[in-house]
Amino acid sequence: MLKVGILLGDDIGLEVVPEAVKVMKAAAEQTGLEIEWHPLPIGRKAHATHGNTVPPETAEALKGLHGWLMGPIGHSMYPRNDPTWVMPPFRKTFELYASIKPVRSYPNVKSLQKDVDIVFVRETTEGLARAGTVVAGMGEYRPNDEISIGMRVITRTGSNRVARTAFEIANTRRMKRVATVHKAPTFKLCCGMFAEECHKVAADFPDVTLEDVLVDTFAAKLAMDPQRFDVVVTTNLFGDIFTDLGAALVGGLGLAPGLCAGDTQAMAQATHGSAPDIAGKGIANPYAMTMSGKQLLEWLGHKHNEPKAAAAAARIEHAMERVIADAKHLTGDLGGSASTREMGDAIATAVAST
Ligand code: NAD
Repeated sequence: MLKVGILLGDDIGLEVVPEAVKVMKAAAEQTGLEIEWHPLPIGRKAHATHGNTVPPETAEALKGLHGWLMGPIGHSMYPRNDPTWVMPPFRKTFELYASIKPVRSYPNVKSLQKDVDIVFVRETTEGLARAGTVVAGMGEYRPNDEISIGMRVITRTGSNRVARTAFEIANTRRMKRVATVHKAPTFKLCCGMFAEECHKVAADFPDVTLEDVLVDTFAAKLAMDPQRFDVVVTTNLFGDIFTDLGAALVGGLGLAPGLCAGDTQAMAQATHGSAPDIAGKGIANPYAMTMSGKQLLEWLGHKHNEPKAAAAAARIEHAMERVIADAKHLTGDLGGSASTREMGDAIATAVAST
């Protein structure tokens, strides 16, 4: 029996995560997959009930789960310099080192680019992002009021494992191409090490083509010619930026799912934040969170040799394609007028009849 956690997060997390769970439950029922669900407190609500945005009991409970859904956290609104108001450090704590973010366009959804089908693989435990850079304190500091210093950490192990994830994914795809995005000619040691490890891993995948793309060049190519990319692997901060750009190319953040995967556990987490501007209105697009849940099922199916989980994931994917093609129950960002719940209901219904 798979054990899966439900962590709502803040703001629109309270709206989109329940829709994702509803769809996953519908899919699991259809394929006979048994899931033990574990709702766990997190974020602003957890602070109200447990005095901490990341209660120790939540962090402890996650250790015993196969995976979980994590809603967005409205971190920038949290009080500063208060250790009870923290961004959950789960990517680092649980070594969820590869953030796998598919970006795809749909023919009938208005978008800047068409025929896009890219999987971004972003390293998430190292780089410049402060949570992963040091074991205590922060990766940034200010020795005096004139100077601020940020540290970037790249390791061979960290680069190698995320590169391997990218190649494994590329090996299952039609184009079988990996673009590694870095700036090794300038950042010879950090970007250089990342690129070296990508090339080492490439040697184990003779059917996959590896291309080095400098990060600034990549920005232009991604905007103008995204169809040429298949799987893109990059370091933490570059990946953070380009996954949002990728989402923007195909219709916006509501269409950007993600899975943070490690060796033994995975966390479904959409690219978007908690969207306080639309929270509570029932208009957030549940696509990104639902497809993140679908990715989790796919990953669990593969990891635990559980064909029912893989079949449930496939059902969700087909149901989503139908709902989008029908265009009758889409949220406003996709050109429709459905509420979050109406779109979630339509996907769950389609899952049951796929
Ligand atoms: P955001 O992604 O929340 O919102 C950016 C824009 O996209 C907004 O106009 C929003 O309405 C829209 N949007 C986002 N998700 C949508 C959806 N599902 N459907 C329709 N529209 C959607 O980014 P932001 O406004 O910069 O950040 C808001 C908060 O989220 C901040 O506190 C930030 O720190 C936090 N954040 C959290 C995460 C995370 O937990 N993984 C990621 C990014 C930002």
